[in-house]
Amino acid sequence: MTRTELPSSVLIAGCGIVGAATAFFLARRGVDVTIIDREGPAAAATGAADGAVSVASKRPGPMMVAALSGVALYRQLLAEGVLADLFTPRSTFIIAASDEECTVLEAHGAALSGEGVTVETLGRTALAQRFPALSPSARMGAEVKGDGHAIGYRIVNRLLSTSGVTVRRGVAAKHLIEAANGRIAGIATDKGEFRADAVVIAAGNGAASLLRLDGVMKPRKGQLLVTERAPALNASMPGSIMSGRYLLSKGSQKGGPASGRGYGLVVDPLVTGQFLIGGTREDSDARQTNDFDAVKHILADAVALVPGLADVRLLRAFAGVRTAVVDSLPLVGRWPVHDNLFVAAGFEGDGICLGPVMGQAIAALVCGEQPTLDLSPFTPSRFSACEVAA
Ligand SMILES: Cc1cc2nc3c(=O)[nH]c(=O)nc-3n(C[C@H](O)[C@H](O)[C@H](O)COP(=O)(O)OP(=O)(O)OC[C@H]3O[C@@H](n4cnc5c(N)ncnc54)[C@H](O)[C@@H]3O)c2cc1C
Repeated sequence: MTRTELPSSVLIAGCGIVGAATAFFLARRGVDVTIIDREGPAAAATGAADGAVSVASKRPGPMMVAALSGVALYRQLLAEGVLADLFTPRSTFIIAASDEECTVLEAHGAALSGEGVTVETLGRTALAQRFPALSPSARMGAEVKGDGHAIGYRIVNRLLSTSGVTVRRGVAAKHLIEAANGRIAGIATDKGEFRADAVVIAAGNGAASLLRLDGVMKPRKGQLLVTERAPALNASMPGSIMSGRYLLSKGSQKGGPASGRGYGLVVDPLVTGQFLIGGTREDSDARQTNDFDAVKHILADAVALVPGLADVRLLRAFAGVRTAVVDSLPLVGRWPVHDNLFVAAGFEGDGICLGPVMGQAIAALVCGEQPTLDLSPFTPSRFSACEVAA
């Protein structure tokens, strides 16, 4: 394959939203694509996410710029019919209830406005009128317009069914196969070798061992709750709520969150009439467990901000594991050593928003084109020790 030719075949490791989106955009160009996944589509973070397609929570800089493109692409795919019924445009309300949160919110609102996002600042009275379900403890708010919501596993299913791409379930990538010319010939798996003209690693937390990035990427668990339907309360909320503390827990104004367990409240009124409430940030990969302390803490925070939730029953709690990178930026781009190897992983808490736009960008790169989104801040070569585990 030269850079101006389409690859004859592409192998993608990982069928989360990033792998599925990459496959979708490659298949649209007529490229023959196979995805392998050690479990199945949306088996990891993508299937356990909230689904905020949101610029509101992003750190100023490349992540905010990428999120703007990400939301724009969701709108485009909705207009094209690809994501019909799956993407719900709506505002995000960031709410501050303390001096510290007010300070963060003011700085964050200014950063969003600076990127061209429409933000309306709401004082206590305006907030109470716009959002009557909120507690009087809410001192100030910012309505971030133009965000949206999408359920990750539904997006994956739609991208796969629309593109007709083959997914090989239960196939775990073990290591890359290096060809004599220094290119990558394919992937050795527990079910044998898979060969292709180009290889994309979109394996979330599985990318670390395939690319020898154990010190660079780490799992970050999040616990989420889902309530029963409460249609009246749900209808009284004009968008999702994010507490100022969520920005602090996510490090949206600084270099990244502190390690250990962080709490940041998000209350999402779902189209079903239920509420999705989260969540935690924990340096752990224990995705099969919720703990009582976390559930209690999240519920107490939610009821403090939206008192009506005290009368709504909790239906279930679950957890997922994000893939965090030490410098809080994902790794997206061509692998420095091998011309036909690409990586798209490490999206932490932003991959539902960024998955489609990053998949589109990687598909362009794989086909020898310059992506419209500037990927230079995300280049894998910033970790100089990058070396393939072949
Ligand atoms: C609790 C929680 C809440 C979140 N909320 C939001 C939100 O509101 N908005 C937002 O934008 N993002 C959110 N996220 C983040 C988002 O879910 C992730 O960033 C995104 O799903 C990452 O997608 P991915 O395709 O890179 O990885 P994943 O979804 O993790 O997919 C990786 C896939 O690779 C497969 N795999 C791994 N190793 C191998 C291997 N060796 N061989 C073959 N297959 C392999 C796995 O089985 C998996 O299917 C949240 C995440 C969590 C956990």
